[in-house]
Amino acid sequence: MANQKTALVCGAGGFIGGHLVKRLKEEGYFVRGVDIKQHEHRETCADEFVQGDLREQSFCRQITSDKHFDELYQLAADMGGAGYIFTGEHDAAVMHNSATINLNMAEEARKTGIKKIFYSSSACIYPASIQEDADNPGLKETDAYPAGPDSEYGWEKLFSERMYLSYARNYGMEIHIARFHNIFGPFGTWEGGKEKAPAAMCRKVAETPNGGGIEIWGDGEQTRTFLYIDECLEGIRRLMNSQVAGPVNIGSDELISINGLAEMAMNIAGKKLAIKHIPGPLGVRGRSSENSYIQQVLGWRPTTKLIDGMKITYQWIAEQAAKRK
Ligand code: NAD
Repeated sequence: MANQKTALVCGAGGFIGGHLVKRLKEEGYFVRGVDIKQHEHRETCADEFVQGDLREQSFCRQITSDKHFDELYQLAADMGGAGYIFTGEHDAAVMHNSATINLNMAEEARKTGIKKIFYSSSACIYPASIQEDADNPGLKETDAYPAGPDSEYGWEKLFSERMYLSYARNYGMEIHIARFHNIFGPFGTWEGGKEKAPAAMCRKVAETPNGGGIEIWGDGEQTRTFLYIDECLEGIRRLMNSQVAGPVNIGSDELISINGLAEMAMNIAGKKLAIKHIPGPLGVRGRSSENSYIQQVLGWRPTTKLIDGMKITYQWIAEQAAKRK
């Protein structure tokens, strides 16, 4: 099709990448998805899906050089929830794998002339020292420095933000960076150790009979904000269609404790369960997204209520859990 825009989506077999492919297809793009694995929860909507390892530079060269791409969305990363990135056991792998992917893709995009690049950074880049209070006032983009993330995952993201911005400065590439704050929704990891809090709560509640009990790491008073996937996609597309390099927060400012999130899942399910607090990896005490910058530069901010996204997510996870029985 003449004038059809082309997009390369790295991490297309993952949660956000899978949704992004669908969104770009709905917008009329030709999409090539790339991932080391197929999507576990749905058929890909991509025109082409290439399976391979983005740590291999030759593979990165192959997928960028046999066709012209107008846009690159780089979402591939070695990541998971608190049970994966805060235990310390995966630090070397997280840093090596994700940094290698980003180094390879920035360089191949430069060589093949992909001018417009989206990079997915994270709220985990913000200093741990300003997130010690559960009543977090919201993290502003400028809070990133002086740097002090609480995980190697966050340090790698900070390094890669700077690397992509250097490519923009030195090679004239157009870079757009978002810092995602806990994105959730259906078709994501919901079991196995890499799942995040909303999916974990939905699974625990769905799998436990009314009157039973579920376990929560820590005292459950640690707070976060969670953003529904459709809002994340809207933010990505608006950022890519703007002149804003970022980094820009894409997150919700609706703060909730993990106990509160568990209660929300129980209310959706119509169940009353006891909560047992057990030791486990926690991350920072309180984290929220401060959204005045995105409002200022994009004239938009996420507004979907947590409860609305949780209802959809709970239903999907309950169906998956029932199928597995
Ligand atoms: P995800 O784990 O579902 O997706 C990442 C994908 O990258 C996976 O499908 C994985 O197979 C792929 N990948 C990993 N190593 C690879 C390799 N060597 N070669 C090819 N593919 C490889 O995660 P997600 O939730 O969809 O997150 C997407 C991006 O957004 C990641 O960069 C993540 O760090 C970032 N992010 C996500 C959140 C969130 O709440 N989901 C928050 C902040 C930042």
